[in-house]
Amino acid sequence: MNNEYIDMIEVKLISKPQDMLKTIYLACRTCYSSKSPVEIYEETNNDKEKMLNLITKVISSGHYSTIEHIQVSYAISGISRACSHQLVRHRHMSFSQKSQRYVEEKGQFKYIVPKTIVNNKELYEEFIKFMNTTSQFYTKMINSGIKPEDARSILPNAASTSMVASLNLRELIHLCNLRLCSRAQDEIRQTVGLMAKCLIDSEPWLKPYLVPKCERFGFCDEHKSCGRKPKF
Ligand SMILES: Cc1cc2nc3c(=O)[nH]c(=O)nc-3n(C[C@H](O)[C@H](O)[C@H](O)COP(=O)(O)OP(=O)(O)OC[C@H]3O[C@@H](n4cnc5c(N)ncnc54)[C@H](O)[C@@H]3O)c2cc1C
Repeated sequence: MNNEYIDMIEVKLISKPQDMLKTIYLACRTCYSSKSPVEIYEETNNDKEKMLNLITKVISSGHYSTIEHIQVSYAISGISRACSHQLVRHRHMSFSQKSQRYVEEKGQFKYIVPKTIVNNKELYEEFIKFMNTTSQFYTKMINSGIKPEDARSILPNAASTSMVASLNLRELIHLCNLRLCSRAQDEIRQTVGLMAKCLIDSEPWLKPYLVPKCERFGFCDEHKSCGRKPKF
């Protein structure tokens, strides 16, 4: 019995501010009003169109501090260490990730098989065999008294991981702009795509922002462009 995961990415939005639009609107208005933020907050009704009108203008003029007040958190599982390593490169995100020091992977560790390998029968079988051999050696080391923190040295990039990841809206937009680009690796594109979808489901006004950078800015600045938008 193998422990491979294919298409098992699970992303759940676990928290976001209830009054997202009102908070951003307040941040925007505070910059341009003689009134105090409390006065503005109290006089603000829930006129979505009016709030969105100002917010859209402020974001498009690059006044991004206004969207840093919005923090969202996700529970993410079924991704590979290769994928999580790319996510943790984003320096304005916060992470709590399953530890390979404290959580023993004895028996058979779970792993993610990239689709391109699943689609190649011969390589797929070899891949599974390689994982099984790795797992047996890992278990042998643990059974011989090696600590998980040292035995993990042989766990592959394919090993499955889970994490709670939090970030503000400015960083989420940046993350989507970079990682939804067709130049990004398939697994991280899927993961970030799910992060975007979860939030758009409840905040549809964010749809134009949680897209690849070319969709947002209308041109491509990648050296090897996919041709979706004209080159910069
Ligand atoms: C398609 C693709 C291929 C990649 N290939 C490689 C690779 O081969 N090798 C590799 O090492 N990485 C690679 N990366 C990772 C990339 O170099 C970045 O580390 C990662 O995308 C995080 O992006 P960032 O630095 O813009 O954003 P974040 O860390 O999310 O930061 C957001 C923004 O904050 C600002 N910022 C953050 N920290 C600083 C700072 N210290 N100084 C100044 N400004 C700061 C910048 O404006 C930055 O854009 C790749 C990324 C992509 C999308």
